[in-house]
Amino acid sequence: MPAVTVASLDGDAVTLSEDTVETFRASFGGPLVFPGDADYDEVRVIWNAMIDRRPALIARCSRTQDVVECVNLARDHGLLTSVRGVGHNIAGKAVCDGGLMIDLSLMKQVQVDGDARVAVVAPGASLGDLDGETQKFGLATALGINSTTGVAGLTLGGGFGWLSRKYGLTIDNLLEVDMVTADGELLHASESENGDLFWGIRGGGGNLGIVTSFKYQLHEVGPNVLSGLVIHPFDVAREALPFYRDFCATLPDELSVWAVMRHAPPLPFLPEDFHGRLMLAFATVYAGDPDEGEQLLAPLRAWGDPVADVIQLNPYAGFQQAFDPLLEPGARNYWKSHNFTELSDGLIDTLIGYVENLPSPDSEIFVAQMGGATNRVPADATAYPHRDAEYIMNVHTRWTDAGQDAECVAWARDFFGATEPFATGGVYVNFVSEDEGRTAAAYGENYARLAELKQKYDPDNLFRTNQNVAPAGS
Ligand SMILES: Cc1cc2nc3c(=O)[nH]c(=O)nc-3n(C[C@H](O)[C@H](O)[C@H](O)COP(=O)(O)OP(=O)(O)OC[C@H]3O[C@@H](n4cnc5c(N)ncnc54)[C@H](O)[C@@H]3O)c2cc1C
Repeated sequence: MPAVTVASLDGDAVTLSEDTVETFRASFGGPLVFPGDADYDEVRVIWNAMIDRRPALIARCSRTQDVVECVNLARDHGLLTSVRGVGHNIAGKAVCDGGLMIDLSLMKQVQVDGDARVAVVAPGASLGDLDGETQKFGLATALGINSTTGVAGLTLGGGFGWLSRKYGLTIDNLLEVDMVTADGELLHASESENGDLFWGIRGGGGNLGIVTSFKYQLHEVGPNVLSGLVIHPFDVAREALPFYRDFCATLPDELSVWAVMRHAPPLPFLPEDFHGRLMLAFATVYAGDPDEGEQLLAPLRAWGDPVADVIQLNPYAGFQQAFDPLLEPGARNYWKSHNFTELSDGLIDTLIGYVENLPSPDSEIFVAQMGGATNRVPADATAYPHRDAEYIMNVHTRWTDAGQDAECVAWARDFFGATEPFATGGVYVNFVSEDEGRTAAAYGENYARLAELKQKYDPDNLFRTNQNVAPAGS
């Protein structure tokens, strides 16, 4: 193995000698990928095509010991390091320029114990991998809404989706983890063991170490759930959004309704002449008895004159993939996100103005209904602090031509500024774009405690390629 020059933590470079690389290779169970290797580009690429970074070395872990070897190499030589789960994060922190990329995406194992209703999940699994296994037992845990997202990154930031009003955030269903910390130790963390670490892992991102195993509580879900879309032309948004707000206020935890605003994609159930027109979609899942769901959804379905109503019984795992075609990798993406405690008239007016001027055919704004179980956990019980958010709005600005970068990013920033007066000031860490510097807003009152934990578990900030919390006192 030739020597390799790798970017260092101090902003310089370190050369790993032939011997060092060979010793590392001999102890490492998975493939190592270098610039120039046939699969280098495929392995370094992540979901957001805005991010184009070139690590000096990609270590594709196949087992927990590989993660330990990587952490020891990185620490002993002071290497700039990034950690990749599935590589979905908008900010692209999974990959670093010139450094060591610890790639966990080959570690996809999911083990379900149907009697105990728990799943043990490796850090490269996607939501689809997990749902696919748990649904074999008629079980599921609260995850996100796009099946190709990584379980690891989603969980470490908090995690929310269709089941969250009923069962809480993903972290509220996390029972225990195994984590490799900066000193190369493998620690077990749960409420009863290394409880401080477990507090920080639940929302603190990759700041405290590398999680090699997640154990989740599962619940009876499906196999079919009442779910689907009601789609209106966007012209009715001024009446439909206040109706949506009032309707949401009446709903039990089992029912979640999200509002999605965008140009209509060419979906088979939409009339052809509606394709490309602005639409307002209400997307919903009822996590309970479908007959009860039918009754609760009746007012939503009776409202106005929808272009399409495709609410029906769908396989839960299938509905978890319903939005995948709109969110495929390879496009350029820039996100902006706010948390809201209410959808005020002023916010609705502002929103409508910006939807009418979306900068590209694939851009969308979604408003996710939170509340329910997500907000019954005290804000200081986990590192994720936003237990007051009734809605999370995310602006998915999405396009393909790099020539449109400036226009699309400017539109998103402008919209973000215009809606800021209505927002709580907090933000979900997993929706923070690369350039935002909103880590303090992401952790709010919990930031100081997280910084203390960072000082305890990673005082030299080895794990810094993330939404970084600086060690306290540094
Ligand atoms: C299309 C799309 C849809 C989404 N929908 C939702 C949704 O419905 N709900 C929701 O809550 N979120 C959603 N997200 C956000 C998602 O939760 C984050 O992007 C998440 O970070 C993805 O996880 P990943 O493992 O793929 O991330 P990666 O990009 O691989 O990693 C993200 C961060 O986590 C760190 N990390 C990854 N794995 C580990 C590990 N094992 N140990 C320590 N650190 C690690 C990385 O270093 C990096 O800093 C969505 C994202 C996309 C792109």
